[in-house]
Amino acid sequence: MIAAPTADAPTRAAPLIDPFARAIRYLRVSVTDRCDLRCVYCMAEKMTFLPRKELLTLEELERLCGSFIRLGVKKLRITGGEPLVRRDVLDLIRGLGARVEAGELEELTLTTNATQLARHAEALAAAGVRRINVSLDSLDPATFAKVTRGGDLKQVMAGLEAARAVGIHLKINVVALKGINDGEVHDLVAWAGREGHDLAFIEVMPLGELGGLERLDQYWPLSEVRRELATRWTLQDTLYRTGGPARYVDVAETGRRIGFITPLTHNFCESCNRVRLTCTGQLYMCLGQEDSADLRAPLRAGASEAELEDAIRAAIARKPKGHDFIYERRGQAPALSRHMSVTGG
Ligand code: SAM
Ligand code: SF4
Repeated sequence: MIAAPTADAPTRAAPLIDPFARAIRYLRVSVTDRCDLRCVYCMAEKMTFLPRKELLTLEELERLCGSFIRLGVKKLRITGGEPLVRRDVLDLIRGLGARVEAGELEELTLTTNATQLARHAEALAAAGVRRINVSLDSLDPATFAKVTRGGDLKQVMAGLEAARAVGIHLKINVVALKGINDGEVHDLVAWAGREGHDLAFIEVMPLGELGGLERLDQYWPLSEVRRELATRWTLQDTLYRTGGPARYVDVAETGRRIGFITPLTHNFCESCNRVRLTCTGQLYMCLGQEDSADLRAPLRAGASEAELEDAIRAAIARKPKGHDFIYERRGQAPALSRHMSVTGG
């Protein structure tokens, strides 16, 4: 006999399936739009950030995450803006880490610029975080400072060291930038190989105004990055997948993998299993489309769990088949007006 659900032990709801039969199992949650860096492809030098009352509280974020977990989300990534600049974010991470401990969630991860990682690594590990993605576009202090408009590479390196010391596995994400880090890709592969970090290259996506900068000038297709890498490394295609959009190669000389995340040169939408929740409670069903669903309004109007789940299901029913990023003529507005720091990378 199947026991009836009780308030304490609700049965799992039917999983989230979108109109293209993709099961939604991965939620990225942006906890802030603020950041202590100003990466040239991500933000303008002068940014206006959201007033605090617009942001979901940590309790509201945790409640929404709980609803998604009940609806079958198994993997959750905390991002931003820079997630580690939000005060008390560790409270949220501990709360979600307990869901991993309880077996409700398979994985809790974080994407960070690592500037604050040195002081948080131990607490993150204790909360159950086993893997972290770190965005790091250059190993040269001057180039790093230029890309991030003032960032201190030493601080990031200290963060990586602290994470390693507590056994957190690191994946380094590098945005491929023509004229900026194109001379460094071999060094990055060699360094990641030595340090035992996974590595992924990302193409610049047309998200948000940059204040005069042209993304087309920065855009370096990964097909070209791969060609460049192949001049020095033996790259072997692999069928390895993480469920995300990256395609991987093995590097014979380092024995490690490199991922290529190519939203522009490769259609990566068929296997999309993810949605993104912003720090104001907007649910974006696709990184590359404008449509979103407001979950903050029902949450703040006192919605019951069933009502919240209905709102989430209604949003998933609108998940589009794919994005249509494309770089067209110079001087055009970006394909999407919002920055990556709003939707969460
Ligand atoms: N601050 C954290 C960090 O940098 O890792 C998390 C948020 S950041 C928005 C997440 C990822 O988005 C980073 O890897 C960053 O390089 C990437 N990103 C930001 N703007 C981008 C753009 N226009 N195109 C491609 N990647 C972008
Ligand atoms: Fe900040 Fe990350 Fe955007 Fe860089 S990519 S400005 S670190 S949010």
